[in-house]
Formats: sequence, C-alpha cells, structure tokens
Amino acid sequence: MSRTRKPDWLKSRPPSGQEFAGIRETLREHDLHTVCEEANCPNLGECWSGRSETDGDDGSDDRGGTATFMLMGDRCSRACNFCDVRTGGMEALDPDEPENVADAVAEIGLDYVVLTSVDRDDLPEQGAGHFAQTIREIKARHPGILVEVLIPDFQGEPRLVRKIIDAEPDVIAHNVETVERLQFPVRDRRAGYEQSLSVLEQVERESDIYTKTSIMLGHGEYDHEVYQTLADLRERGVDIVTLGQYLRPSRDHLKVRRYDHPDKYETWRRVAEEELGFLYCASGPMVRSSYKAGELFVDAVLR
Ligand code: SF4
Ligand code: SF4
Repeated sequence: MSRTRKPDWLKSRPPSGQEFAGIRETLREHDLHTVCEEANCPNLGECWSGRSETDGDDGSDDRGGTATFMLMGDRCSRACNFCDVRTGGMEALDPDEPENVADAVAEIGLDYVVLTSVDRDDLPEQGAGHFAQTIREIKARHPGILVEVLIPDFQGEPRLVRKIIDAEPDVIAHNVETVERLQFPVRDRRAGYEQSLSVLEQVERESDIYTKTSIMLGHGEYDHEVYQTLADLRERGVDIVTLGQYLRPSRDHLKVRRYDHPDKYETWRRVAEEELGFLYCASGPMVRSSYKAGELFVDAVLR
C-alpha cells in the first residue's frame, strides 16, 4: 500500500529513563551535540539504550548503545532539499573537538559510535583531516570501540577519502540518498550519483573496511529504480545498506510523494540480503542511516 497522508506506523515512544538522562548530561558537560537529539530522531530511545522495543525489561538483552555525533559545526556549506541542517554562515573549526568527542565517548561507555559531519566545502581539505583526527583520538582512548563514519563526498577527491581510510574506522558510510534520476532536486547540485558511488568504490578497492550507504524512499522513485540503485551499489562492492521513509522537516522542504507500508520495506530487505548479497540491510519506515548501527553490525557481521 502507498499513500500520501502520514500513516500510523510512523510513531515512536519518546526517550526516557536514567540511561537517557545520563548520556545527555555527559554530552552537555562536553558541550557536544548529537544528530540523535538535534534532528529529534524518533529512534533515540532504542539507539542510545542498545535495545529495541521488543526486547524484554530484565536487562538480559542489554548491549551498549549507538549515538551519532555531528562534527565540524551545525551549518552546512550545501543545501539539500530534504535536509533540515542550516546552510551558510560557516564557522571556524573547533581544534579541541576531536579530543572532546573522544572523552565523551569514553565517559558514556558506548560500544559503537557513529561520527558524521556537515559538508565543509569551504575548508582546506574540506575538513577530512579533522574527521580523521577524531577517529584516531577515539581509538587511542578506547581501543575496543567500533567506529562508523558517515562521510561527505569530499567532492570525489580520492586523496581526501584516503585520509579517512588511513585513520582505520571499522565502517565507512557515505549516503547515495536516492535513485540516480532524483539526485537533483533531492541533493545539492554539487553532489551526484556517480561521485557518491566512486567514494564507496574507493574504500572497497583500497581497504578491508566495511562500506555502507543509505537510501530514502518517498521522493517519487519507482521500484525498478530502487532495484537498480541496490544493484549498482553491490556492483561497487558495498556491504551494508539501509532504507527508510523520507519525512518532510518543514513546508520549505520537498513534499513526501509516497508512504510505503512496512511490508514493502521487508520485501526490499529480502531482495537486498538474499538476492543481491548485502551483508545486512536495515529496512523500515523509521530506519535511518545509523539506526541501531552497533547492534546490527555486531549481529550480522561479527557473530
Ligand atoms: Fe541517533 Fe542515528 Fe539512532 Fe537516530 S538512528 S537515534 S541519529 S544513532
Ligand atoms: Fe544536509 Fe548533508 Fe546535504 Fe549538508 S550535505 S545539507 S548535512 S544532507
């Protein structure tokens, strides 16, 4: 079923409890922000606790949670038409950010951390060195932690992607966001389908690091275009994919063209995993790129 009125399955429980309050307090102490809070992500309760709503309450299924830190400020040099991050008015980088993030990650006791950033086309090296330094600081303080990075395209410059590879995160993600036909108007004109595929392909070619990408549904894509995107990603060797519903942040953003039923997402999961051979595919209306990333990665890849 598909429709254009927001359906009931796009509801979540608000986060609560001591664990949530403790993590939030540590973030405030270090003056840090997470995408989870800034974007008011509906999955916050699940991700931070490392538990799903279907887990029991006895603690038997406890695992460390996942949180996503946003690096290099809260203003982006690009303006994608689906994204709620503010554009322009770029600020100088905080040189202490890599250490601050690493201290907070160690203090909270996360097992898996996701680092992402705004695009900083305005900076020398587009901030690749700063991103890499943050990975290194975290790994130095907390050698057992798994680090996933969701990186910009760095305008397709291989030497900048190489800086991230050299910092040795466990997963490098870069989002293709939508099918080839809809790259613009969905993404900023400086982004592009082939450019994004080339970033992922470089990581596959030059390292053993797992690669991951994310596709939003609901922009008016056809099924055969979604299938083709998945096939193109696998052809470049991409290991992990997530699919989720686009939700319009405000009336200034692109309209939602369609809401797909959860059963449709389950079909895409099976196609991605069983037919195309992705290591895993997280697929559901509420799924976001970093949705329970730690839990799913450990279950599907390390066990
Ligand atoms: Fe945070 Fe990502 Fe989970 Fe949302 S999906 S709560 S942004 S880790
Ligand atoms: Fe948002 Fe990323 Fe686009 Fe910037 S590049 S506007 S952060 S989606």
